[in-house]
This record gives sequence, structure tokens and C-alpha cells, in this order.
Amino acid sequence: MASPETPAGAVVTMDGARAAAGPGPQLVGVIGSPIAHSLSPLLHNAAFTALGFGATWHSQAFEVPRGQAAGALTAMRRAGLRGLSVTMPHKADVAALVDERTEVARRLGAVNCIVNREGVLLGTNTDGEGFLASLARGAAFSPAGKRCLVIGAGGAARAVVLALADAGADQVAVLNRTPERAATAAALAGSVGSLVPAEDGARLQAVRSADLVVNATPFGMAGALPEGTAPWLVAPDLLHAGQVAADLVYAPRPTPWLVEAAVAGAYPVDGLGMLVHQAAAQLVLWTGEDAPVEAMWQAAESIDPPKTPTGPTAP
Ligand code: NAP
Repeated sequence: MASPETPAGAVVTMDGARAAAGPGPQLVGVIGSPIAHSLSPLLHNAAFTALGFGATWHSQAFEVPRGQAAGALTAMRRAGLRGLSVTMPHKADVAALVDERTEVARRLGAVNCIVNREGVLLGTNTDGEGFLASLARGAAFSPAGKRCLVIGAGGAARAVVLALADAGADQVAVLNRTPERAATAAALAGSVGSLVPAEDGARLQAVRSADLVVNATPFGMAGALPEGTAPWLVAPDLLHAGQVAADLVYAPRPTPWLVEAAVAGAYPVDGLGMLVHQAAAQLVLWTGEDAPVEAMWQAAESIDPPKTPTGPTAP
């Protein structure tokens, strides 16, 4: 076992988890930094209990500092973890470190899930799948033939852009503070992708004509922005009835942007659904079982009950 001084904290912690569990149980977890408040172990363990695997499968969080994903993967192999969920800031690093990548992980250059197949680490990305499932569940929304506007161009936005395009969206427009990143994200959508210019007129037109508007920035996340930062890239009062407004942020729940979008008439979908459904997709990969999604929802909502704003009926 590594010494307590080992800089890669994950090396010690995964070995410690295996030592504590013994050789029998199947271990999974989540790596990220900071990770202490991650809901992933709660969701995973709720699923294991619902599946009747409570005594044989266990999930926990591993704090892995930026730049130390390689050490975490080494520890994962040594400790025999069956799977890892991967969150900020490691998704791109892990995509370069795994032995094999799925097509979606390769196209995104980002991995949010590792499956350990007898020492061969397969990296995939379930964020887009989770987002589509949250739209279906939250608003009975299917992107096929729809005009979509994605605000933001980071890792989560790119997963959403790719998923919307692959699901048959008619248009996937991307608006971002840094236009170069928007262009890169929009390119993932191929011929249906476009970049929204920063001018007010173009922005207004993109918002007004969209069937779905997605906030994929951390704007509105509890504690994310100090006072005095720039206003929303898309003011929520620009939205209107007949649209779906989705926010990837899930704390607070609902976000101020979603509250105001609902007041403007849009149908709100909060980010907890994406969190639950991307985790459910990972459970399937690790266990081979159908994910007990309702049990996972109940676990998530036990921490933060639904306070989705009163809005119109789903379009
Ligand atoms: P990221 O890679 O850091 O990207 C952040 C994006 O937000 C960038 O496009 C950035 O613009 C933009 N941005 C940041 N601060 C901004 C500001 N003050 N004004 C305007 N734009 C701003 O982050 P990420 O991984 O994509 O995550 C984005 C959000 O989605 C986070 O809140 C995260 O918690 C959430 N998320 C939720 C789920 C879920 O399951 N619900 C999954 C993944 C992520 P620039 O390019 O100009 O820097």
C-alpha cells in the first residue's frame, strides 16, 4: 500500500477502501475535486440497495486533485474497482488515459465513466444520454426536428450539443461568452450546428425561435458567481410559452434562471434529472442490470426535494 505521504490521495484512499471492504465486495466510486459533496455515491448505493446488491456492491467518493487522474487509474486497477464516475476537473485527462474509449467519449474528448473490464479500462460518457432522458422524463421532450439553443460551450455543453444532434435536432445553436469555444462546440453537431453571434439581435432571434433553451453554464449555481459578475447571457424573461427551458445546474433547485424562465411561460426542467439519469446509465454499464431509476430519484430528492417552479404544462 502507498505511504500516507503519497501525493496522489486517491492512491491511498482506494487501497484503503479495498482493505476495509476485503476482497469480496464490488467497489465503485466517483473521482473529482472537490468531491465531498458529490451526490454520486448516494445515487449508486441507493441503486445497489434497490437491486438487492446492498451487501455486495458499494460506492464512495475519492478526492483526486487536479493533474492526478493517472494515479487514480493506477489505484483503480490495483484495488480492483469495477467502475468510476469521473467529474471535474478530470474528464479530459481521463479520456487520454483510459485503455479504450467509446465513440461518444472519443468525439467529446471527455470521459465521465470508467468501466474496469478485468484490468482494461473503458472510458465512456453518459452526460448526453442522461440529459436526453431528463428531457423525456421532465417535459416529454424529444429533440427530433426541434430547434435547440445551448448556452455555454464547456464539457457539459458539448455533451448536450452532441446528444441533441445525434437525437435528430433540426438546429443546435451555441451561444457562449468565448465565441471560439462556441464554434468548437457547435462543430460537434455537424451540419445542424451553428454559432450565435454576440449581437443582441442575433441572440434575441436565436432565443425566440428555439423550442429548447439549455443553460449549460454554472451561472446560477449556488456560490458560483461573486456579486457584480456579468448578467445572464440569455435573460430568462426572453423565453416564452411553448418552449422548454433546461438548466444543467441543480443546486439551488430550481435555479433563479429556471424560476424566471417559468414565469415567462417556458416549461422548466432542472439539472437533477440529468444527474440521476447519467448515473443510471453508468450503473447499467457496471452491473449489467437495468438501473432502478425511481430509487435513484427518491435518493436524490431526499437530499433536495422538488421545488420546481409553477409553470405551464409541458409543450
Ligand atoms: P466548464 O467546462 O467549466 O464550462 C463552463 C461554461 O460556462 C463555459 O462555456 C464558460 O464560458 C461558461 N461560463 C462560466 N462562467 C460564466 C459566466 N460568468 N458568464 C457566462 N458564461 C460563463 O463547466 P461544465 O463542466 O461544462 O459544467 C457547466 C455546468 O453544468 C456546471 O454548473 C456543472 O455543475 C453543470 N453540470 C451538471 C450536470 C448534471 O448532471 N446536471 C453534469 C455536468 C455539468 P467560457 O467558455 O467563456 O469560459
